[in-house]
Amino acid sequence: MYDAIVIGSGIAGAAAARILAEEQEKSVLVLEKKAHIGGNCYDEEDHYGVLIHRYGPHIFHTNDEEVYAWLSRFTDWYAFGHEVVAKVDGELIPVPFNLNTLKQVYGEEKAAALEKKLTDTFGEGARVPILKLRQQQDPEIQAIADYVYENIFLRYTMKQWGQKPEEIDPAVTGRVPVVISHDNRYFGDKYQGMPLDGYTPMFEKMLDHPLIEVRIGVDAREVLELSEETGKVLLHGEEFTGSIIYTGPVDELFGCRFGRLPYRSLRFDFEHLNIPDYQGHSVVNYTVSEDFTRITEFKHLTGQKTEGTTIVREYPFAYTGAEGEIPYYAIMNPENNKLYEKYAALTEQFYDFHLLGRLAEYKYYNIDAMAAKAIALARSLANS
Ligand SMILES: Cc1cc2nc3c(=O)[nH]c(=O)nc-3n(C[C@H](O)[C@H](O)[C@H](O)COP(=O)(O)OP(=O)(O)OC[C@H]3O[C@@H](n4cnc5c(N)ncnc54)[C@H](O)[C@@H]3O)c2cc1C
Repeated sequence: MYDAIVIGSGIAGAAAARILAEEQEKSVLVLEKKAHIGGNCYDEEDHYGVLIHRYGPHIFHTNDEEVYAWLSRFTDWYAFGHEVVAKVDGELIPVPFNLNTLKQVYGEEKAAALEKKLTDTFGEGARVPILKLRQQQDPEIQAIADYVYENIFLRYTMKQWGQKPEEIDPAVTGRVPVVISHDNRYFGDKYQGMPLDGYTPMFEKMLDHPLIEVRIGVDAREVLELSEETGKVLLHGEEFTGSIIYTGPVDELFGCRFGRLPYRSLRFDFEHLNIPDYQGHSVVNYTVSEDFTRITEFKHLTGQKTEGTTIVREYPFAYTGAEGEIPYYAIMNPENNKLYEKYAALTEQFYDFHLLGRLAEYKYYNIDAMAAKAIALARSLANS
């Protein structure tokens, strides 16, 4: 009945399904276990009419002209330069640490002298890892690195990854940047913003094609069987010989037989407030205090005009696989990557079966990179 089955309707699954249907005229069945499409990018209006991102704030940003043009077929954009601030000692300071942060932290006069030193040493516009600042002879420049490490990086990273300071990889620490510029934008990409009407309508349009059938609320593991005895894939008990793109967690395909792949998960605590503005910023990172990592105020992300405002606090925790938990961030290290490879190898016995996406590949991808990868994979299946 179908030429291809795509499991998952996040950006990986949705983009791949569209290419298979539109460019290769394949009939595609999309299976999605959640009650909605869009995966992590899903957004919806809450009870108060505020457009919220159910799985954390998602800001689209890219330098990839092709991906931008392709996605723009399914949405217009609300363009804005995303800025993030960190709450340190009761003050909101721009992050990544830049020349505006320098002024706020050190005061005008001292900052002017430090700015000159930084600009003369590294050049305007440079992104300098704190490891490099530490290697300078000048103790004042070294002190900037220490400030960034302690006030912006350390506690935030401990919360995010559940690590003790001694467990934090020095290679990662050293890469934390100081930006020699007055530009407060978090991302440097040419295009940044939000789908004008939200992500969910963008996904609806992407999946709206006569050759695509979407079934939501269906866990693929209930309808598909991977027979390791025969190397065959069965759909509702009958052999399926078309292409399969799987975007879910690869360990779950095999009953987690070698143990679960470790992930960090997040609890999102939403709150609606009957005030027009809570924090004046879309995202405030809590880098030295609180158990949550950040507060997002959605109206500042989406540009929506509403009387009240909805915020969300993010609490990271270790994913256990319990009902209702969602794996968010793969904990990539040599041991976990090896475990992943063991599971991925099991899929190789199935012909025309492809792992795609942040879960199936056990990797972090931004939306644009994920879309690009999905489009490329689907195009490569032209003759399969
Ligand atoms: C908190 C957070 C914030 C982020 N913010 C940004 C950002 O600002 N900008 C950015 O570019 N990127 C951001 N990302 C990354 C972005 O979320 C990913 O690039 C994107 O979600 C990857 O899409 P995907 O399709 O691989 O995965 P997902 O979006 O997770 O989609 C996978 C889908 O597969 C479904 N599925 C899984 N197993 C099964 C099964 N057995 N049967 C049926 N369906 C199944 C799931 O329900 C899910 O809908 C963020 C990620 C996180 C975690």
